[in-house]
Amino acid sequence: MKHPKEERTLVIIKPDGVQRGLIGEIVKRYEGLGLKLVGLKMLVPDPAHVEAHYTLDPEWRKVTGEKTIKSYREKGLTPPSEDPLEITAKILANLKKYLTAGPVIAMVWEGAHAVKIVRKITGGTEPLTSDVGTIRGDYVLDSYTMADADNRAVRNLIHASGSAGEAEAEIAHWFKPGELTDYRIIHEEILYDVNLDGILE
Ligand code: ADP
Ligand code: MG
Repeated sequence: MKHPKEERTLVIIKPDGVQRGLIGEIVKRYEGLGLKLVGLKMLVPDPAHVEAHYTLDPEWRKVTGEKTIKSYREKGLTPPSEDPLEITAKILANLKKYLTAGPVIAMVWEGAHAVKIVRKITGGTEPLTSDVGTIRGDYVLDSYTMADADNRAVRNLIHASGSAGEAEAEIAHWFKPGELTDYRIIHEEILYDVNLDGILE
């Protein structure tokens, strides 16, 4: 069994994040947590790659459609459709346009609770309601209603894996094994060492 500190997650800085000059800021946030960057590359994905990415999880279409319906209801608004799958079909078509519009940065971050902690600091999907202090909450202002009115994807700077299982499939989808590097980083001694006995001379 793997030690929890070896958990990995996939992060993609979407084209709007690159265009907004936020690569450094975003990397800094994950790095500051104590996570270790084990893979990084810039690429322009093609539409088939984006569709395959979002449909790796067979539940994604249903869950994402339901999440959108719930968010409309919570605001007292009528959702664009009552059928989650109809909603996601549109979202997926728009995501293909969004993610292929320019270069993206794909990264793999490793560390204890990498998946959850990255999601926490990234913030909720809709920037309008993402918590203050999260990357999406602090650096962008989009909403479902605005995106849906213009028939485009919500621009929220980042993709981050939703679960450890999702992360494993997504990492394999974006990176070849040889593109990831196993190495030790000195701050792991402080984050994970049981006795902290290597500091004093
Ligand atoms: P997350 O990226 O937070 O995991 P989802 O997996 O639910 O969110 O959705 C994937 C991406 O699809 C979102 O990051 C966002 O860019 C886009 N998206 C989700 N729901 C909608 C929607 N109702 N309208 C437009 N775009 C959406
Ligand atoms: Mg997701």
